Formats: sequence, C-alpha cells, structure tokens
Amino acid sequence: MLSAKNRQFFIGALLACTLSLSSAQSQTAVDQSGLTNVITGATSAAPVAMNLNTTPAKKLFGAKKLPDVAAPHAIGAYALGCMAGAQRLPMTGPDWQVMRPSRNRNWALPQTISLIERLASDAKAKIGWNGLLVGDMAQPRGGPMLTGHASHQNGLDADIWFTPMPNYEMSAKERETMVPFEMVKGHYAVNPDTWSLDRAKLLKMAASYPEVARIFVHPPIKAALCQFAAGDADKSWLAKIRPMKGHTFHFHIRLNCPAGMPGCKNQWKPKPKDGTGCGDELAYWMGGKAWQKPKPNPNAPPYVPPPPLTLSGLPAECRAVVAAP
Ligand SMILES: [Zn+2]
Repeated sequence: MLSAKNRQFFIGALLACTLSLSSAQSQTAVDQSGLTNVITGATSAAPVAMNLNTTPAKKLFGAKKLPDVAAPHAIGAYALGCMAGAQRLPMTGPDWQVMRPSRNRNWALPQTISLIERLASDAKAKIGWNGLLVGDMAQPRGGPMLTGHASHQNGLDADIWFTPMPNYEMSAKERETMVPFEMVKGHYAVNPDTWSLDRAKLLKMAASYPEVARIFVHPPIKAALCQFAAGDADKSWLAKIRPMKGHTFHFHIRLNCPAGMPGCKNQWKPKPKDGTGCGDELAYWMGGKAWQKPKPNPNAPPYVPPPPLTLSGLPAECRAVVAAP
C-alpha cells in the first residue's frame, strides 16, 4: 500500500528523537536553593542536575516523561508556553492510532484530545475515512522541544497525517517506521497520485469545528481546497486553512484557548480580506517570492545566534510546571 511515490525525506528527523516510553518512570525534586531540578530516569545511573535558571528550557521540558498533577490548563502561547495537567491520547482508539510513539508527544489538553476523537469518529461516519494517524501533539508538560517544532507548546496543537489508518493495529515498530503519503510535488502542486477528495472533505470537517482556530497546510493544498470549495455557498471555513511551508504529509490543527484559561494566549484570528484567503494571500504563496531566499547583505554584521531560551523567557507559571514532581 505504501508505494515508492512517498518520499522519505523527513524520516531521519523524526527518528532522531529517541525518548523511550519504557523509561517513563522519572522523578523530580527541587533542591533547597530552589534552583536545581534533579531528574532521574530508570535508564540512567546518575541523576542529571539541571539548573532552572540557566538550562535551556527545551532541555528541561524535553527531559520530562510525565505531566504534572494539576487541573489541565494551557499557559502562554502556542510557540511560547507550556501546559499543566496534560492528558495522554491512548496509543490506539476505535478510529485513531498514535504515530512515532518513541517521541512521547501524544500529550495535550483534554479539549484537544476530545477534538481528535470527535474528528476521527465523524470522519469515519461521514467521509468513510478509516481512521486518523496522529503525529506530534505536545510533550508531557508542553514547552519548547529539543527537536522539531517551534509551536506545539501549550497543549492545543496536533498534527494529523494525510495517510489513513490501516485496518489493523500497528506494531510499535511499524508506527516508528511507516512512511506517510506525500500530498505535494514541490512548492506549487498537489500530487495527483495521492491528493484526493476525501482529504479535502477531512480538512473542511476539521476547519468547521468552532474550537479550531486554524489549520496549517502546505500552500498547494490550500489552492486545491479553494478549488474544491468553488461551488460552496459558505466558504468561511477556508479562512482557517493557513498556507505554511512544510505541512506536506500532515496537517496541523490548532485549537482556540478554551474558556476559563486566562493564562492562555490566543493567536490573532485569521481574517483574510476576501473571506477565504484564496485570493491575494494564496497568490503570494503560489508566486515565486515566498520561496526566494533573501539576498545576503554584504554590509550586515556577522550573525550572532541568540542565547537559548531559558525559563525566564517563558510565562512565570511554566517554572512551577517543569519543577513539579
Ligand atoms: Zn504541527
């Protein structure tokens, strides 16, 4: 079923992260100064001490194998935040399976988990989509990641593969190595061998839920959706479908901040002038400019990368989240 049509470009990156579920028992303690977070894992003989003030936040959050015990809530922004009281999407449901389980990124707020379960069940019943393959959600306490994403930090982002779930429960190995279907050919065209009407329907369904703030897809997929919706009386769902490079084998669902979470920061609401984003906005992506690298300025001072983000750059509450046992 998985043919040579599907490229493997991303596999190295996906497999680079080797968090082990078998080492999920971890303990955390804060020393008397309150500065050092001691993390011990079942597989490491010596505890690894991390200073909460100086250790890069991605290392602190990346080391956590389990969530904190707290009322579930999102803290901060999608790309600068963390999550308290996360829940885990089960590895296998009636109509979904979690992919790349070694990454331990199937954690999210309960609202995100419910939405995925609902989409999986609605898509099966109304579109005949066999089931969802769920990619990255968040780390057990959200926060920045050692590899992969800039967002997915506050428990409200989830990646869903464009490959449908097979008719059997996949082994852990298969979930790590399965090659997904690629939906595009280059910057400007969907792949006619893989792109299909049911995928367009799946995206429309996902965008139609009021909890969903936006969905990221590679630009030619947005173009295909604009065509797909040409005859629709109500095209407002298209405004939520945002073209973004890199979303070629999966789409990325982002939820609005749930009610009653004052520390959660919504992103600006997409309001393209034409109501859909199928006009000027898409033209930008489907033209050459969006893909051009800026010409280097010979007079610019040498680039100095910024120091890695530490807890001081995240909302204050994230310190307690990552330091909690
Ligand atoms: Zn994503």
